[in-house]
Amino acid sequence: MRIGIQGGTFNPIHYGHLRGAEEVREALALGQVRFIPSAEPPHKPGEDVAPAQDRLEMVRLAVAGHEGFACDPIEVGRGGRSYTLDTLAALAEGPCRGHEIYFIVGADAFSEIHTWHRAPELLRRFHFAVTLRGSQQAEDVIATLGRTLPPLDSSIRVAMAGEGRAKVADSEWEIRFVPVTHLDISATQIRRAIRSGGSARYLLPREVELFIIRRRLYRGNA
Ligand code: ATP
Repeated sequence: MRIGIQGGTFNPIHYGHLRGAEEVREALALGQVRFIPSAEPPHKPGEDVAPAQDRLEMVRLAVAGHEGFACDPIEVGRGGRSYTLDTLAALAEGPCRGHEIYFIVGADAFSEIHTWHRAPELLRRFHFAVTLRGSQQAEDVIATLGRTLPPLDSSIRVAMAGEGRAKVADSEWEIRFVPVTHLDISATQIRRAIRSGGSARYLLPREVELFIIRRRLYRGNA
């Protein structure tokens, strides 16, 4: 079976994440998508980040009732900062053993992969499912990697290998590009709306919205 891994801060999870994952699940015939909230989010110091247990619970509520979706507490349970490589390696040895792993990521984030921990190794050990929104093009993303990866590893070559598909040369791993419905929703927008006393209704599942209200998340110090 193929298993998709959707990581994120999920602060909070919203319909952009959920719909994107659903479309990737269908496009790549994934048997399951595991949502993995981060423990301590990298690159976001000083932001209004809800406690990891709350973000985990919101993901649980959001995926409940979808048999192809699961919530995985691996990073929250481990605590501290998790590298994608370590998480995927642990999954490959644990609950995803014997299955093909596709790491799901947006084209924006994937275009920055050269800044990730041991990016060349990551690309040589796992498949990627890269979501394209709006006018984003697979060829542009691969051209960016062609410029940014060689300084890290002169032997790595990534090239298009057909419609919506790229390959890492001399490896069995592929990068699949999946155009997804462009839902212009962000967790930042949701936090801002709540902080200013507004509504987040219809941007995220109702159960998640009610949890946020109950737990008084994202209201600042007011
Ligand atoms: P923030 O606004 O706090 O930066 P975010 O809404 O962008 O958060 P993250 O948890 O940082 O959410 O994103 C995790 C993953 O979800 C990334 O791979 C990102 O590309 C994807 N993602 C975020 N928003 C959307 C969206 N509206 N549609 C599809 N995918 C999304």
